[in-house]
Amino acid sequence: MSSQTPLLAFFFVLLLFPSVAVTASDAQIDNQTPRLPPPAHHDAVCGDPAVGGKCHSVPRALRLKLIAIPAILVASVLGVCLPLFSRSVPALRPDGNLFVIVKAFASGVILGTGYMHVLPDSFNDLSSPCLPAKPWAEFPFTAFVAMLAAVLTLMVDSLMLTFHTRGSKGRRTSSAAIAHLGHEHDSPVHRGHCHAAPVQADVAVLSTELAADNDGDVEAGNNKAQLLRNRVIVQVLEMGIVVHSVVIGLGMGASQNVCTIQPLVAALCFHQMFEGMGLGGCILQAEYGAKMKSVLVFFFSTTTPFGIALGLALTRVYKDNSPTALIVVGLLNAASAGLLNYMALVELLAADFMGPKLQGSVRLQLLCFLAVLLGAGGMSVMAKWA
Ligand SMILES: [Zn+2]
Repeated sequence: MSSQTPLLAFFFVLLLFPSVAVTASDAQIDNQTPRLPPPAHHDAVCGDPAVGGKCHSVPRALRLKLIAIPAILVASVLGVCLPLFSRSVPALRPDGNLFVIVKAFASGVILGTGYMHVLPDSFNDLSSPCLPAKPWAEFPFTAFVAMLAAVLTLMVDSLMLTFHTRGSKGRRTSSAAIAHLGHEHDSPVHRGHCHAAPVQADVAVLSTELAADNDGDVEAGNNKAQLLRNRVIVQVLEMGIVVHSVVIGLGMGASQNVCTIQPLVAALCFHQMFEGMGLGGCILQAEYGAKMKSVLVFFFSTTTPFGIALGLALTRVYKDNSPTALIVVGLLNAASAGLLNYMALVELLAADFMGPKLQGSVRLQLLCFLAVLLGAGGMSVMAKWA
């Protein structure tokens, strides 16, 4: 448990770095280098936002943002905790049908986030007229980075599972065995790449290994391997979601346009609540202790308010449409889109729909498809605002 908290902390720092780098380098660009000769509409789109219109009001924008921070915080906590407290409802037992349907809904939300929010954002950023056409208009960077991110996620997913399993196995074996395993950790070569379906095959192998450990108790071994997978899924998912949450907060915090902020406050509350329900469903499945659960809830709930506060603090230097901001945010979005799409399709949806529970009942399958469409549809409606 304690080995996972640093991973989240590291990712948080990783996120902070580009935001600071963006502002620092943009300030430099503004001071030193004259901009390239712009296309005709360049200034209208990429210049400073119009000052003096009826929508531009710094004090009113500030008041709205200060309302938004606690409102979004409460909405996020509510959304992410809702599934966590569902344990006390008897109808929502993990082996019940309703639980499977709720999980399908949560997976649909994650899918909708990846396809309808993060991916289009990245396309918008990287095809902006404010970027030099030379490399950016000539190659589909969004799709390329998203593809790489999906493969990288698979890699992290499968390697983390290997190490988790070896770690928990090693604690129970002799010290000689631990020393032996320690050598193997240095080798990045993964035995899975000869298998037709490495992940599933590995789970099968791991399950049997674990089962052997537990004095031949096959079921306990299976459950253990599945639990490990669920924990890896939650951590990777949180990374993908957190990127989007910080970026939308940052955009709102830096904006002075009251007309866009006003509807955005309400939209972001629903956005975070919905997304929180998706993440909460996965946290529930990982069966973490209270400490790790609260760490995950804390990171998710504070990211958007943190983004708004950061945007507020950097209002003078941060501009949504500066080239550096567009590139950094666009690439981050592309990476998390690939990650979220892989996770939603492979780890959440395919894993459940191909599993024994749903394969056993067509009626339940159809209900779950409906739930997926409902979750993804809700997220799609919200794509209109944020
Ligand atoms: Zn969004």
